[in-house]
Amino acid sequence: MSKPLDAHRREYAYCASCPKLCRFSCPVSEADRSESVTPWGKMLTGHHAVTGQRPVDAPAAEAAFACSGCMRCTENCVHHNDVPQALVAVRSEAAKAGVLPEGVKKLADRFEAHRAPFAVRLPDVAARAGAGIGGTYFPGCTALVKEPGIVKDAIAAAKGVGLKLGVSVLAGQCCGYPLHAAGLLDQFAAHARRVAEAAPQQGPLLVGDPGCAFTLMKLYPQVGVALPDVRLWVDEVARRLTPALAGKALGGAHAYHDACHLGRGLGRYEGPRAILQAALGGAAFREAAESRADGGCSGGGGALPRARPGTANEIAKRQAHEVAPGGETLVTACPASRRMFERNGAKAVALETLLARFFEGETPDRGNHG
Ligand code: SF4
Ligand code: SF4
Repeated sequence: MSKPLDAHRREYAYCASCPKLCRFSCPVSEADRSESVTPWGKMLTGHHAVTGQRPVDAPAAEAAFACSGCMRCTENCVHHNDVPQALVAVRSEAAKAGVLPEGVKKLADRFEAHRAPFAVRLPDVAARAGAGIGGTYFPGCTALVKEPGIVKDAIAAAKGVGLKLGVSVLAGQCCGYPLHAAGLLDQFAAHARRVAEAAPQQGPLLVGDPGCAFTLMKLYPQVGVALPDVRLWVDEVARRLTPALAGKALGGAHAYHDACHLGRGLGRYEGPRAILQAALGGAAFREAAESRADGGCSGGGGALPRARPGTANEIAKRQAHEVAPGGETLVTACPASRRMFERNGAKAVALETLLARFFEGETPDRGNHG
């Protein structure tokens, strides 16, 4: 029995004998309306594998990859079962058996070729964004490659609260989350060690992308890797907010989306709201009926957009409607979520962008691609 699967044996067993008590919480089973992708159905794949009833074959892999890693089931489970991590263990069996879903296999191949989920030389992209010695900001490669406006806006917004930021040379490395989500756990551990070796040994690292922050702060220690001083951009900016910030209050109706890794993953709920409130000059914003620990998912995590793009898009549409039913602009601190919402027809802006526009006294109408 493989070690990753064995580590979750008890959680699989709990789920196998559970009357699907967390079914309502899973965005995938709600979007797909299928029993096989409820947390219970997905965890059965692990239970069957550890008990020798059925190995992880292609259909089991399909089910295990039907998870965005949103942690809503964990939040609603009396045992606090870590379903997403237990499913990553099933994914690792799928990888060994050569039955990864096609989209995930492509992601893994791309990562192997580029050490990143994008077909770019990440160190060059980071250098173009100004990465240099003494820089402490780690935007994450989704922002760096796909949303470069967020990188500029995060630096400008930080300056507005008195925090001087530059892009870290470490930004030229992906944190490795895609490897973990793909179930390539040995490759993930090796990658984490490489990142730690390349990390500046002095000074903090301020991480922008909640998925990267979750990876560096929670997943690295699981493979015996610790970076010395990892902090969050939202924490560092929120604690520098003062009541007398000079800027221009932005108009329009806004609503806040709690990103899964930032909220349930790292417990950050109030800091991003304080930043949003400041960026709106104290104006009210919409809170979804289900928010903070109960907040919904954008469908952008856990390699779901690679494994089941249709499901991921349906989840994003549902969450956009839930949070912003009146067409409010969705505000999120997660670049992947912002992209998911926009791709599915909703107006969405990065928290960093909104605060930067406040300090510039502009309206946030130039998007995040500048
Ligand atoms: S995670 Fe908890 S609530 Fe959900 S199926 Fe498993 S045991 Fe039941
Ligand atoms: S982590 Fe989210 S997507 Fe995955 S099984 Fe749990 S509720 Fe469903």
